[in-house]
Amino acid sequence: RAKDMGGGEHCRFEQELHASAEERRSLEASLRKALGRDEMILHYQPVVDARSEKVVGFEALVRWNSAEHGFVSPGKFIPLAEDTRLIVPIGQWVMRQACHEARNWPEDIKVNVNVSPEQLLEPGFHEEVVQALAVTGLRPERLEIEVTESIFLRDASVARNALEQVMALGCSVALDDFGTGYSSLGYLRKLRFSTIKVDRTFVQGAAQGSAESLAIINAVVAMAQSLKMTTTAEGVETVEEAELIRNLGCDKIQGFYFGRPMTADDARGLFRHVSERRA
Ligand code: C2E
Ligand code: MG
Ligand code: MG
Ligand code: MG
Repeated sequence: RAKDMGGGEHCRFEQELHASAEERRSLEASLRKALGRDEMILHYQPVVDARSEKVVGFEALVRWNSAEHGFVSPGKFIPLAEDTRLIVPIGQWVMRQACHEARNWPEDIKVNVNVSPEQLLEPGFHEEVVQALAVTGLRPERLEIEVTESIFLRDASVARNALEQVMALGCSVALDDFGTGYSSLGYLRKLRFSTIKVDRTFVQGAAQGSAESLAIINAVVAMAQSLKMTTTAEGVETVEEAELIRNLGCDKIQGFYFGRPMTADDARGLFRHVSERRA
C-alpha cells in the first residue's frame, strides 16, 4: 500500500513537472511575440519626497497583457525573459518608452527604469541608453537606472564598467531591493549610487514592530548619509508606515499609500493642474 501511494505521489509530481514545463514553453512562445503584437505597456508609480510629499519622479513598471495568457505579472515573466534573453529587446523597449513618456512631465521629474543583469551586461547597453536619450531628447539627469545587488554576482567588473559609463552620461543609478539579495558592501565603496532603495520587507517588518527591521533601516539610512547617497523606502502602504519611514530619515517614499502604478495618462494627469495654471 505504502508503495502504491508512493507511486501515485510520484506520478502526480511528474504530471505537475510536465505541466509547468509545458506552461513555460507556451509562455515563452507568447513572450517572443509580445512586443511585436503591442502587448506590453508601462505603468508609472510615483516616488514622493518624504517631507513635502511632492512627487519627484516615477518608476516605470512593465505590464504584459498576453493574447493567450491574459495578464501575466512581472514577477512571472521577467525571470523567464531573463532566462531566454528576451529581456534584452524588452528592456530596450522599456528604456525608450519610459524616456519618451518622461518628456511629457515637468523638467524636474525623474524617471526610474529597472535594468536586469542580462541587459546591463550586454555590450550594447551603453549605446542603447545613449540612443534612448538622443531619440527622445530627455536630459540624462532625468534618467535613473535601477539595478539589484544580483548584478555583482556575475561579472562584477563588467557591471561596474557599464554603470560607470551611464553615470558618465549624467544618469544616476539606484540600488533596488537593498538588503534582500546577496550583500557584499564592497561595491558601495566603488560605485557612486545616488539612491539605495530599502526593500518593502523591512518597511513592513518595522511597522509590525520588528526591532531587527528597524535597526536595519536605521543602519542603511546612516550608511547612505555618510556615503552621500539618498534612501527611498519601497512598498509603503499605510499612513503609519509613511510616518515611521519619515521619522527614520528616509528621503523618498514609494508605495500604494501615495500611489499605485498607474497608466501613462493618469501619471500625466497628476501635473495637469500645474500646466493649466501656467497656461
Ligand atoms: P521592483 O523594481 O522592486 O518594483 C516594485 C514592485 O513593488 C512593483 O511590482 C510595484 O508594483 C510593487 N509595489 C509598489 N508599491 C507597493 C506597495 O505599497 N505594496 C506592495 N505590496 N507592492 C508594491 P511589479 O510591478 O509587480 O514588479 C515586480 C518586479 O518586476 C519589479 O520589482 C522589478 O524587479 C521587475 N520589473 C518590473 N518592470 C520591469 C522592467 O521594465 N524591467 C525589468 N528588468 N524588471 C522589471
Ligand atoms: Mg525597481
Ligand atoms: Mg524594488
Ligand atoms: Mg522590492
